[in-house]
Amino acid sequence: MKLRGIELRRVSMPLVAPFRTSFGTQTERDILLLKAVTDDAEGWGECVALSDPLYSAEYVESQQDVLRRFLLPRLASPEGTAALGRSGAAAVAGLLHPYKGHRMAKAAVEMAILDAELRALGRSFGRELGAVADRVPSGVSVGIHDSIPALLSAVEGYLDEGYARVKLKIEPGWDVEPVAAVRERFGGDVLLQVDANTAYTLRDARHLARLDAFDLLLIEQPLEEEDVLGHAALARRLATPICLDESVVSAQTAAAAITLGACQIINIKPGRVGGYLEARRIHDLAAAHGVAVWCGGMVETGLGRAANIALAALPGFTLPGDVSASGRFYRTDITEPIVLDDGHVTVPTGPGLGVAPIPGLLEQVTTSVEWIAF
Ligand SMILES: [Mg+2]
Repeated sequence: MKLRGIELRRVSMPLVAPFRTSFGTQTERDILLLKAVTDDAEGWGECVALSDPLYSAEYVESQQDVLRRFLLPRLASPEGTAALGRSGAAAVAGLLHPYKGHRMAKAAVEMAILDAELRALGRSFGRELGAVADRVPSGVSVGIHDSIPALLSAVEGYLDEGYARVKLKIEPGWDVEPVAAVRERFGGDVLLQVDANTAYTLRDARHLARLDAFDLLLIEQPLEEEDVLGHAALARRLATPICLDESVVSAQTAAAAITLGACQIINIKPGRVGGYLEARRIHDLAAAHGVAVWCGGMVETGLGRAANIALAALPGFTLPGDVSASGRFYRTDITEPIVLDDGHVTVPTGPGLGVAPIPGLLEQVTTSVEWIAF
């Protein structure tokens, strides 16, 4: 494979409704897309970094900068082009390893090159990653609302649409009461879980144990990302299984968290861990340890959403992921919209991602384009 260059394109997409988590409120999504152009095909990557470094240290401007300044020049170097020519996307992580962190940028460029490679081969992401299902159950992530009635109305809408699982974002002051209200209104059969996005400390253990009464699938990332031992201590005090998100940034950190008893479940987000190939390694590691995994979301466009659905079709993804329909976040997606069918989303089967941006729609939301020639 011979790379001619990579296009860095920023798009700005309004959300259908504000999405509030414990770290902030999003009303629009400023996204960095990558297009890898090879002699044989074009491939798309999506960088999941948010506008501000509130979910993780990465933010979208920093990811574009590190790509332009360090990562793409490394891939374009004689050593980089030789390795890409030999091994394609599988060479990207190793080539970029000397540069610390910035996993969301690394994941995006690996995704773009992998997509180009698979499109040239006529092979889908799902087949490449090892998907074993042709559709996967779709969960929805529900933000923090201004009131319990507003939350119940939102949850009712998602359940009417057919979502197979509901996740409530929580924070101190918005936890036991909304969970109790959702259980009381919609009953014990709804698959329900919560996500704190690091908003608590170990001193909140007794309070968080009150959530044990509601038969939740899991509580996600209650403590700070670096507090792995704290999660292990909390796990001994809660009946609700602990799931890690922010803390797991590689297969190595996943192995440590599992060994320390810090999680019974892992939320895998390819952007957070440096790419779909590392995501698959974490899946394999977790499966070997009997740890369940599911696929998280970062308010992706149809591009990232399609790749996530392919990943979620691997056999160890035994819990419904945040792989919702495009309409959960966007009135108009840049690809053919991902739609819900009986609570499921369909694993794309076309070459590469199986979806591509629709040129007119892409232009409408584009705010800048930059070409880096190799
Ligand atoms: Mg999370």
